[in-house]
Amino acid sequence: MAEVLKGKPVADAMKEELAKKVGELKAKGITPTLGIVRVGARPDDLYYEGGAKKTCEAVGMAYEVFEYPADIDQESFEKAVTEVGAMKNINGILMFAPLPKHLNEKKIRSLIPVEKDVDCLTLGSAAKVFADEPDGFPPCTPTACMDIIHFNNIPIKGKKCVVLGRSLVVGKPVAMLLLREHGTVTICHSRTENLPDVCKEADILIAAVGRAKMVKANFVRPGQIVIDVGINEDPDNPGKYCGDVDYAEVEPIVEKITPVPGGVGSVTTVVLCKQTIMACEMQNA
Ligand code: NAP
Repeated sequence: MAEVLKGKPVADAMKEELAKKVGELKAKGITPTLGIVRVGARPDDLYYEGGAKKTCEAVGMAYEVFEYPADIDQESFEKAVTEVGAMKNINGILMFAPLPKHLNEKKIRSLIPVEKDVDCLTLGSAAKVFADEPDGFPPCTPTACMDIIHFNNIPIKGKKCVVLGRSLVVGKPVAMLLLREHGTVTICHSRTENLPDVCKEADILIAAVGRAKMVKANFVRPGQIVIDVGINEDPDNPGKYCGDVDYAEVEPIVEKITPVPGGVGSVTTVVLCKQTIMACEMQNA
């Protein structure tokens, strides 16, 4: 049986540390504040927003929600995002994506100031992550994977790390973060040949494919650490969700595994707050 790497203990320890930092900042008259930019009211955006607000409250941070109608035009939204970006009291910005199709998302993302881009929506932040610049914030999910690995004292240096998925929001940045810590990284995708064999080679396997239960028993071997980023509707349990890893098949084989739900996802909003507090500290240094 594998050791289950739950997200809650990681999130709790991080929140305790963040609350202390917020206390120190407040003593200097500074309240770290997250700006949440939302167009329309998609249920998944609202769900994530609820979690972000709760985490802000738990660590003593403030937040402001900037909500716009789903039919807002490009010019008005560009103006709005520029205004939020310029607000002195807003230290970090979370903007829900994808934006409605009629908006030029690439252009709008570029209007977020890099120093407030706490979820890596701009190419400027991505460049900093890829160049190992300490003031570039990676997207929250890859950072959450790293926080789980660190919290559990899992060694990365010299280890074979296989990242399943090459998206800009998870696969590529998590690969860069593992590389930064001297992992030997392989990135897989839909054209990778012999995928199960490549995954079997890993000491640390990060699954971020967005395919329910794709990682089966033949992808893994004893001794591996498996971090499951996937959030998918569970085809076997309507109304529930599951990871990219077939937990029932994989858990009995590997050494450690994150569950879904209750794994990476439970750390993500805490990372959002952590990066906003870091941004606040840098802006007030
Ligand atoms: P994405 O943009 O759809 O990217 C999926 C990646 O997986 C692509 O690189 C794709 O390869 C690869 N892939 C798809 N099918 C494959 C297959 N059969 N074999 C090998 N590779 C395959 O997804 P994403 O945004 O990175 O998200 C990945 C998962 O993480 C999703 O389940 C998402 O819901 C979840 N997620 C979780 C969190 C969290 O907080 N826990 C946050 C964000 C995302 P190609 O590039 O070749 O197409």
